[in-house]
Amino acid sequence: MHSQTPPPTPKGPSIDEIPEEQHRFSQDSIQIEAEEPASERSSASSIRVAAASQETSHRSLSITQRLLALSIQFTNLAIQRSSPASGGPVKDTINLIKSVPSIGRTGGTNLRKKLTASQYGELRKAIQSSEDAQLQAFFWDGFDYTRSKKLFEIRIPTAVHQFLGSGIAAGIGLWYTRLRASGDEEVARAASSVMSAGSADVEFPFATGESDSKSPDKSFTHTNCKRQCNFPNVIVEIGFSQSRNDLTNTAKSYICRSKGEVRVVIGVALDKIYQAEKRNEARLKSMYMGAREPDEIKSYCYEEDEHNETGEGAILIWRPEFGLRGKVTATCVRNEIFRDNNGNRVDSTLLGLSLQDFICKNTKDSSAGNFVAPPPELLAGDLCRWIDDALVLYREKMNKKVKEEAENEKKKQQ
Ligand SMILES: [Zn+2]
Repeated sequence: MHSQTPPPTPKGPSIDEIPEEQHRFSQDSIQIEAEEPASERSSASSIRVAAASQETSHRSLSITQRLLALSIQFTNLAIQRSSPASGGPVKDTINLIKSVPSIGRTGGTNLRKKLTASQYGELRKAIQSSEDAQLQAFFWDGFDYTRSKKLFEIRIPTAVHQFLGSGIAAGIGLWYTRLRASGDEEVARAASSVMSAGSADVEFPFATGESDSKSPDKSFTHTNCKRQCNFPNVIVEIGFSQSRNDLTNTAKSYICRSKGEVRVVIGVALDKIYQAEKRNEARLKSMYMGAREPDEIKSYCYEEDEHNETGEGAILIWRPEFGLRGKVTATCVRNEIFRDNNGNRVDSTLLGLSLQDFICKNTKDSSAGNFVAPPPELLAGDLCRWIDDALVLYREKMNKKVKEEAENEKKKQQ
């Protein structure tokens, strides 16, 4: 979920700590340079999926607990910001993680810090040994670490990610839960082994030192494992602010770096919708800039403005291809538009997956995997509805943000 097309103006409390010229990756990135020799060699990938139970326990924090955490974090943030700069990149990163609630988890702009592998190791240790449950929860909620780029990135999902991710995971969950009651014993047993692993981090280790870590939007793994599978079989990646290229690279990276153990990546490409939203926001901003009195736009409702444009959405599926000497490449085997430029659903058979994709490779390749089960389905209509519902929330957020920006600019012009 690397945002390739950044929002027009960087926002967030930490932006004041970084001079403009350091915004190297994109405008929305927040970085601090770190020094360490890059003598880091990739080893064969034997990888673990972080304990889903750990993630579940963090995610099961009640809304009240989260709200309480939020207010505590606000207070902490205020204290931290009034005290002198301290502590180096690890401390800075912890402060950045703590600031996530005040930035707003639906802002959709990922936060980035430059960290060497050893600094990242220190960060993990500091967070693991911390008694701050909320800090741990926000940390495990989704981040990526890439050693070659010395890049630590906190993922800030938008409503679009949340609605679509939950909808797709629920749809797949309902499908395999129903199959567990199948009269066909092999199908029932296979379906019983499928397990949702949410956004549990996927790790790509090196010979020494810290692993790379990537947090998918959703993932599925299995029980009854016959071969110590260390990766989820199926990953769902939602690309909204991400370009199509970035989404492709992410999908390929999961498949190739796992040496084909990740057998399916489902990509939801919404980059055209994101671009349409940027155009809507530009129009909105010029409207706010042109308004003389607040009363002029009092009755205006951005979410319902019929001038709002939208864009097409597509489902892409990647699978591994095994070449000579264990070489694994990722191939896009499906690319289907499910939503047209006007937001209307395009009916199509989506996914093209089977129950075999979700079970242990050993079972799949044995006689026990030789069954026929109904495939999972995602309806174009459902996907479009989730997107439309999410866009209402997304636009509400962006409306506030754009209005504030316009007001600040107008003040400066006076
Ligand atoms: Zn397995």
